[in-house]
Amino acid sequence: MRLRLPLFLAFCVVFATGADAPSRPLVLPELFVHLKHAEDDLERGQAGKARAHAELVLLARPIRVHVDTGDPRLRELAEQAMRHWEAHVGALRFDLVDAREAHDVHIRFQPGLSRNGSNLAGHVKWRRVVRPAGGLFEWSIEAHITLRTRRPDGRPMLDDAIVQAAMHELGHVLGLADCEGYEHVMSPLLLDRPCTTPSHSELTALRDLRGRAKDVITRIELLTAYNRQSAAD
Ligand SMILES: [Zn+2]
Repeated sequence: MRLRLPLFLAFCVVFATGADAPSRPLVLPELFVHLKHAEDDLERGQAGKARAHAELVLLARPIRVHVDTGDPRLRELAEQAMRHWEAHVGALRFDLVDAREAHDVHIRFQPGLSRNGSNLAGHVKWRRVVRPAGGLFEWSIEAHITLRTRRPDGRPMLDDAIVQAAMHELGHVLGLADCEGYEHVMSPLLLDRPCTTPSHSELTALRDLRGRAKDVITRIELLTAYNRQSAAD
């Protein structure tokens, strides 16, 4: 029987008020697990497996996103969230695809969203996998995002509040963890004061993470070039 990895689940809480001192956003621990695999596999000479783990951390091919709504405004807001992340994180691409095409990320909307009595702006379930495939290794990410469209009082959410919620859940797809402060995309959503610009600390956390994964890929490419040269000599 084939075991399926569990889907991880994260919630973006809405309705927070006040302003605590912002805490530094962190990277999800599972990303460091994939980085460690990448670095250890490379040390052991398993370059194919190392590359798959590093590419999973980087999301090194265009990530196909299906925005599951007939509402052009909601589709536009989800796309804004994708383009904001692309603009701030180098070498990252989200492609919009329609329902008939295979996709990695599915985004849907509903008027309200809550869990255990807390109002949520959105939530995401995801799964990152590296698996053997035909003598090589392949990686995949699968994410299901749900976003709320109405405030708890029934009024429509501000455009930027929906953009922050979409960026927040995509931030988990990129590898960022929740943040307890109120100055970050990965913070709880302030309904009247949404944040759609990633903070310096969020971008630094992502750049550090992605820099280590890129380093693994650079070392693999140098090793491959060296082996090719040695075979030719
Ligand atoms: Zn979250």
